[in-house]
Amino acid sequence: MAEPVKHARKVPGNKALRVRNMREEIGLIKNFPKSQRLIVIAKVSAVVLLAIALEGIATQNWPQFVVFAILTLIVGIYPMKVKVQICPRCGSELLRGAAICKVCGVPTL
Ligand SMILES: [Zn+2]
Repeated sequence: MAEPVKHARKVPGNKALRVRNMREEIGLIKNFPKSQRLIVIAKVSAVVLLAIALEGIATQNWPQFVVFAILTLIVGIYPMKVKVQICPRCGSELLRGAAICKVCGVPTL
């Protein structure tokens, strides 16, 4: 007579899954070497600065546009300048131009 209600069930775990992925990503960023984390921060802030610069165009606030466009360029170029070398053996951060890892003594390319 009465059919069992099947379609009322919700798909569980979707939100929790997303939160967990976010946490994993944050954990990943935390595990980055320091200068690599700085690069991530620089990239994110470059996007924010660009958004503010574009807002300056939209509101015809030219000083705001000029200032934040310049800041975007500076911050956006920074990650390219800082090239992080990582030791192939122990994974620790190497100083720029360092020929030998200071942690494990392995020569680098
Ligand atoms: Zn090493």
